[in-house]
Amino acid sequence: MVTPMIKKDKSNEILRKQKLFFRTNRTLDIKLRLAYLKKLYKTIEKYEQEIFEALYKDFKKSTFEAFGSEVALIQEEIKYFLKNLPKLARPEKVKSSITSFPAKSYIYREPYGICLIIGPWNYPVQLIFEPLVGAIAAGNCAVLKPSELAAHTSAIVKIIVNEVFDEEYVSVIEGGADVTQVLLAEKFDHIFFTGSVKVGKIVYEAAAKNLTPCVLELGGKSPCIVDKDADIDLAARRIVWGKFLNGGQTCVAPDYLLPHKSVKKQLLNKILFYINKFYGDDPKLSPDYPRIINGRNFTRLKSFLSDGETLIGGEFEETDKYIAPTVLDNISWNDHVMQDEIFGPILPVMEYDDLEEVLNDIKDRPKPLALYYFSKNKKKQEKVLREVGFGGGCINDTLYQFGNPSIPVGGVGNSGIGKYHGKDSFYAFSNSKGIVKKSNKLDIPFRYPPYKGKLKLLRLIFKL
Ligand code: NAD
Repeated sequence: MVTPMIKKDKSNEILRKQKLFFRTNRTLDIKLRLAYLKKLYKTIEKYEQEIFEALYKDFKKSTFEAFGSEVALIQEEIKYFLKNLPKLARPEKVKSSITSFPAKSYIYREPYGICLIIGPWNYPVQLIFEPLVGAIAAGNCAVLKPSELAAHTSAIVKIIVNEVFDEEYVSVIEGGADVTQVLLAEKFDHIFFTGSVKVGKIVYEAAAKNLTPCVLELGGKSPCIVDKDADIDLAARRIVWGKFLNGGQTCVAPDYLLPHKSVKKQLLNKILFYINKFYGDDPKLSPDYPRIINGRNFTRLKSFLSDGETLIGGEFEETDKYIAPTVLDNISWNDHVMQDEIFGPILPVMEYDDLEEVLNDIKDRPKPLALYYFSKNKKKQEKVLREVGFGGGCINDTLYQFGNPSIPVGGVGNSGIGKYHGKDSFYAFSNSKGIVKKSNKLDIPFRYPPYKGKLKLLRLIFKL
């Protein structure tokens, strides 16, 4: 597919139209937001088959995964807002400070205005529509820039959006880095970016020029620790699922495995067992195993295969962009595969002896987007959760922090800035205005100058 070039005047024109539409205040109407969310729900439902086909064409994603990890998550998010938006959008009454007496205090959540939402290719439906749902729920207009690498899916996203919204409300602009650069040069009121750390920095720099608030949903190396007291069979099953879903091309996938040395052998045997059970003797023939998105990523991943010792998998086929589910043993922190996010079906393994030590190894590195810890010991679970900084994660499972609208999703430090999903999406796309509504009936003169002789009483009021 040829990337359509977007001229600067085109993005100017869309922005101008959206600004005019936003100024009409129509998006402040909760009924309008709910109506559009319902329409979006129905239209995604209508195009479900086309979405499945596009995802299959882009990287052979199975219908089961396309439904479970893309469509269903968006629909859940919409359902959350259909139920909770009226309450979320209401001004929130909060306690007033004693010095403002007599007054009432509120938080008003106002939409930012025009939001730019830039999506990645790996969950190309979910990761463009979930932020959109939050943006619409909070009363914004939006320009969407889906990833050019999932070109078939980008096209269907555009069809859906054009059917639901007028361009002055939500618009899709397709294209690659050049198009994104044109958009980033515009002054948006908010930017929501999902993608790599490298491009995240470009987006943040562009946003800084206009002091545009942004959410950055980035990636990183997410550790998966399996302690000696874990349920090894269950851990292996859940790790294989979380690692190889979407062909390992999941931002929150376990990037590398840290088994306690006493259970490593047993765990790896079970991992082999479950890879075979899930994908058969030859995963290339499995209808459930996706391909690598493009040649560049295939070559990048292939270069990791010479690290350590290939314990499981290691086969690849360039024409099909196929890489078998692979486990690499005898890996060290200095190996090539341990320098950057893998983002593919390759699992390096490094055993550990002492939990404290391995946690320090993790803390020495950029804060991960996710962390998974397998252990039955509640005390150790709490230790890991409280002592290590990371975006979010699971105890005794993988990925599930992502599919729950009640849990905020996002990284910290290198793995991202800001959170979303459910109410956090609403807040991510809203400016929280603190408002004091003061009574005119009483105006206590104490606050006004001259202050002579008042300090003592002020201290008493503050109890300081
Ligand atoms: P990417 O950063 O290459 O691309 C993301 C978007 O940025 C695309 O729309 C692309 O067109 C645009 N882009 C690419 N290069 C650009 C440039 N030089 N200037 C401006 N825009 C540019 O990411 P990707 O390969 O699509 O996705 C994979 C990455 O995204 C991984 O690092 C993964 O961890 C991360 N990710 C994070 C989350 C999350 O929720 N935190 C979710 C999915 C993916």
